[in-house]
Amino acid sequence: MAQFDVVVIGLGAMGSAALATLARRGARVLGIERFAPGHDHGSSHGETRIIRLGYFEHPSYVPLLRRTYELWRELEAASSTKLMHITGIAEIGPPDGEVVAGTLRASRMHGLAHEVLNAAEVMERFPAFRVPADFVGVVQPDGGLVAVEPAIDAQLALAKRYGAEVRTGETVRAVTAHTGGVRIETDRGSIDAGTAIVAAGPWVKTLLPELPVALRTTRQVMAWFEPLDPGPFAAGRFPVFLLESRHGVHYGFPPRGSATVKIAKHHHRDEAVDPDRLDRSVTSADEALIRPVLADHIPAANGALAAAKTCLYTVTPDGDFIIDRMPGAPNVIVASPCSGHGFKFAPAIGEILADLAIDGATRHDISRFALSRFR
Ligand SMILES: Cc1cc2nc3c(=O)[nH]c(=O)nc-3n(C[C@H](O)[C@H](O)[C@H](O)COP(=O)(O)OP(=O)(O)OC[C@H]3O[C@@H](n4cnc5c(N)ncnc54)[C@H](O)[C@@H]3O)c2cc1C
Repeated sequence: MAQFDVVVIGLGAMGSAALATLARRGARVLGIERFAPGHDHGSSHGETRIIRLGYFEHPSYVPLLRRTYELWRELEAASSTKLMHITGIAEIGPPDGEVVAGTLRASRMHGLAHEVLNAAEVMERFPAFRVPADFVGVVQPDGGLVAVEPAIDAQLALAKRYGAEVRTGETVRAVTAHTGGVRIETDRGSIDAGTAIVAAGPWVKTLLPELPVALRTTRQVMAWFEPLDPGPFAAGRFPVFLLESRHGVHYGFPPRGSATVKIAKHHHRDEAVDPDRLDRSVTSADEALIRPVLADHIPAANGALAAAKTCLYTVTPDGDFIIDRMPGAPNVIVASPCSGHGFKFAPAIGEILADLAIDGATRHDISRFALSRFR
């Protein structure tokens, strides 16, 4: 008999969410993580991630976003921890740009609360910004941020409370499907289970080389700047933001805990790297991808670099997630919800993964995430 109903491989944002949901539903579950939870080698570290409803990437994400807000609130209640901070988000750029036009399309299609500001109104409401006269801002009151490491801690604590076993410092070497189950080989031995969920983030192809899609793991940089003038960053004056300009799409967060402002360039240099061999030091060439947007559009944040960290995106060819069963191995479920925008969905994806593992199907529409689209 299999030792576990489900083994979850990788306990970052997605694996920890799946483990918590499975354990709450009474499944015999094991989670395996090669590093310590909350580590900074993968995709789920660096304090904050944006959450928003009006989704510029595609309006079809909105129903899943509504569910993820509900589930973050449930997790907050179950863990007595504040994880989601609804500060509002300002998405700023040319009216026909990817961000503004996409956000407006999703917001209008789904009747989401939002406000459109012209450039002068953006600068009046949020005095840190300097934007050209032809830019607009879409302000969504439901936008905000999720605290990353506390969210993973809360999910793992909940999983353990409901009986999940968690093994850290253990690396899965292979996952083999057989009739009726899966065998998982790790650096400590083998485990038999009914189903495996592979949520290995940047290492998904290392573990499942037969995954029928070309994924790119790309090096990202997050940077924290000391404001030259703290005034425009006082509480309530500076929002979570996305800003599309001739320098690319940048995003950032108001100061939290310290006076520094976190700002990054979405996709950074879009440089494909080996997740085990990348250069994690942050150089002046990295900083140079962020400084111009500070100089032109957020000059009060253009002070000393206080801290910087690398992180990894795992990017699909179309930027949409992968949540599916492995072709020819229905007991192996693969989850790669990254492409630089997956964190906010973690509890909803945990729910989908638990549905697939326990019930064999989910009520959520996951057709957009099917592997068959790459055929
Ligand atoms: C800089 C940056 C900014 C981002 N901003 C946002 C944002 O604002 N909003 C948003 O929604 N999303 C954002 N994202 C995306 C989001 O963070 C990711 O979608 C999410 O963290 C992916 O989680 P994951 O669980 O798939 O991967 P990971 O967190 O990397 O977890 C995978 C885990 O699997 C483990 N593992 C791998 N192989 C093995 C093995 N063989 N055996 C055991 N364990 C293994 C790894 O150690 C790791 O812990 C951002 C990402 C980055 C890098």
